[in-house]
Amino acid sequence: MKTNKHKTLLLGRKRQAIHSRDVVRHFGYSPGTARSYLSYLKRQGLLERMGASYVLTEKGQNRLQYFEVAGCADPACPVCQGKAGYLTCPSCGYRTRWPKARILKERDLFFVVRHAGVYCPRCWKLIFNATQAQLLGIREEA
Ligand SMILES: [Zn+2]
Ligand SMILES: [Zn+2]
Repeated sequence: MKTNKHKTLLLGRKRQAIHSRDVVRHFGYSPGTARSYLSYLKRQGLLERMGASYVLTEKGQNRLQYFEVAGCADPACPVCQGKAGYLTCPSCGYRTRWPKARILKERDLFFVVRHAGVYCPRCWKLIFNATQAQLLGIREEA
């Protein structure tokens, strides 16, 4: 049975805490597979243990944010269809081709400071902050 990291992390965010029972119920894994899959995600630093359940770590939340924009590594992931090669705005769904994405410099816009980062060209939602974008190899605007 193929496990889906993206959907498991999404479930963790939706329910705040995720128990191996939830994984069994939602994905139809055997209880043993569900438990070992959750501890596998814990070893990757994406989940941490809280009592009998697991919660998303900051790394897990960042990973999920990245999946929402860039898609996850699973080509069959139902949540990520059509995301390959694009940055998808998590707010309005607008897609930018990766090579076209640029980090906009910090700008003072009279009342607010727009911090450096990658923004959706349609709705201006911040997609990646400058640090995240640099890690992903996105260049600054010229
Ligand atoms: Zn996915
Ligand atoms: Zn947008």
